[in-house]
Amino acid sequence: MENKRPGAHAILKFMALPDYSPRVGNDPKSVLIHLTTGTGMEIEWKDGHRSIYTFAFLREACPCALCEDERTKSGRKPGEAAKLAPGALPMFKPAVKALAAEAVGKYALKFSWNDRHDLGIYSWFYLR
Ligand SMILES: [Zn+2]
Repeated sequence: MENKRPGAHAILKFMALPDYSPRVGNDPKSVLIHLTTGTGMEIEWKDGHRSIYTFAFLREACPCALCEDERTKSGRKPGEAAKLAPGALPMFKPAVKALAAEAVGKYALKFSWNDRHDLGIYSWFYLR
């Protein structure tokens, strides 16, 4: 069955999953998103732990059902870039950048990527 908007289904599937976050000690104290420089995101957690992610990593780790499905098929882990076939020349791809980021309730972040994908909801639990 050809679905013109596969994302619409994907987000429903994702949102139906139970979300157990936030958990104690698993909340961010501060979140810095470097939209202008395009370098990525820094999170300082309440317990003092710091997480630093590049946008490229976050895009490859997109937790939406669509991306997860794609990764499963190609045997990639979240955050792992697609592998090139042996001998293939890398195609030019513009650097991954987040155009916008917004909070989803108190438990997650949502990014709008420059490849027009914006289905992933990155919960604090996932980012930690
Ligand atoms: Zn995705």
